[in-house]
Amino acid sequence: MTPKEVLEFAKKNNVQIIDYRFTDLFGAWQHISTSLHELSEESFVEGKGFDGSSIRGFQAINESDMLLIPDPASAFMDPYTQVPTLVLICNIKDPITGESYSRDPRLIAQKAESYLKKVADVSYWGPEAEFFVFDDVKFGQGSNYAHYSVDSSEAIWNTDRDEMPNLGYKIRHKEGYFPVSPNDTLQDLRSEMILTMEKLGIRTEVHHHEVATAGQCEIDMRYDTLTKMADNVMKYKYVVRNTSLKYGKSATFMPKPLFQDNGSGMHCHQSLWKGGKNLFFGKGGYADLSEMAIHYIGGLLHHAPALLAFIAPTTNSYKRLVPGYEAPINLAYSKRNRSACIRIPMYSKSEKAKRIEFRTPDPSANPYIAFSAMLMAGLDGIERKLVPPAPLDKDIYEMSDRERKKIKQMPGSLEGALDALEKDHDFLLKGGVFTKDMIEVWVAEKRRRDVDQVRLRPHPHEFFLYYDI
Ligand code: GLU
Ligand code: MG
Ligand code: MG
Repeated sequence: MTPKEVLEFAKKNNVQIIDYRFTDLFGAWQHISTSLHELSEESFVEGKGFDGSSIRGFQAINESDMLLIPDPASAFMDPYTQVPTLVLICNIKDPITGESYSRDPRLIAQKAESYLKKVADVSYWGPEAEFFVFDDVKFGQGSNYAHYSVDSSEAIWNTDRDEMPNLGYKIRHKEGYFPVSPNDTLQDLRSEMILTMEKLGIRTEVHHHEVATAGQCEIDMRYDTLTKMADNVMKYKYVVRNTSLKYGKSATFMPKPLFQDNGSGMHCHQSLWKGGKNLFFGKGGYADLSEMAIHYIGGLLHHAPALLAFIAPTTNSYKRLVPGYEAPINLAYSKRNRSACIRIPMYSKSEKAKRIEFRTPDPSANPYIAFSAMLMAGLDGIERKLVPPAPLDKDIYEMSDRERKKIKQMPGSLEGALDALEKDHDFLLKGGVFTKDMIEVWVAEKRRRDVDQVRLRPHPHEFFLYYDI
């Protein structure tokens, strides 16, 4: 839509409120609203002021005035408000210098897409953001946590695999994946989610229960270009959370809510295209991958430790990246194997479907920043012709320790990932896509708010281990 079309659309849909939305540095949607009469064609150039110092990781208090510049092509009706409300996704500008704001995640994504032009026309992204749906305790209707009793001796969330008898309402451990209802109680909820997403312009492909015992779900969106897909991930999370709330449930994208059960990943399918041709397709190569795709993989694997700071950016992310739950821990690629961090899906032999699936990211990532960082790592691999270690078609979980030791490991903590990013970030600065300032703020904030705040607190499990020592 053009600004003029947005105004016409607003009139036609009886819109009364305009909601200006932007994504903060760490991936949360923020907003301010005005009544419709405040919106004119000029608003798309002049923008709307907001206080940038209230947003974590943004401006200092003495330089707090910032502008939101709405993107007319992003307009959609908010499906959850009583008052007809039109949402506009925005970029951020500094009103004094008139420049785009270098810490605006959406700007980073747009710059990454421009930088890509050296090699390809577009990149396509297909993220699979998994999530858990729990009963919302505010609604007091019993609880999915019934499936996950707090073990009094360990005082940690624990699965009830050994609990007897099964009183009928519980799904046996690891048997909630795939059976129809009444085992799967979330069918209608997911269906309503995808229908709402489609109203918001997101084309979806499939929804299903996921592997964790109960309450884990996945909805897959049809692939799209980088910034558009990052916008879609923000809409996706908004729809998942708000539809859940409507059903008296609560959804979470935290990567590992439950001890001893699968966590939630955000596997990212990705490919590069030029002149309508898939540059990752190379008939006869390993898994029909082109040389360019192999170098792209080389870049992802080479920079993976640093990338983790953006694609697995919470302390909780590293509780997911452990052996045994289909989450990758080793730096390897493979066409068969879900235990490698890069998988080449082999469902289809067609050129169109050729892509790589990077399995390490999780949905706690800011999608604009995570996609951009992965793209920059892959492009660096292409530019420097980086070659990954030979593909690994064995089940890594089944290997002997000696064999496994030969495969490069990822950092096992957010702290390790932030250390790696401090050492290795030149590939992100190319073309001015990321700035040093943005990376420094990211590392400092993540250390202060995440690493330290978790590290300083006595852990419940420490009471089990040490209370009577
Ligand atoms: N939940 C798994 C993860 O943490 C992935 C399961 C799947 O293969 O979809 O990555
Ligand atoms: Mg999945
Ligand atoms: Mg997958």
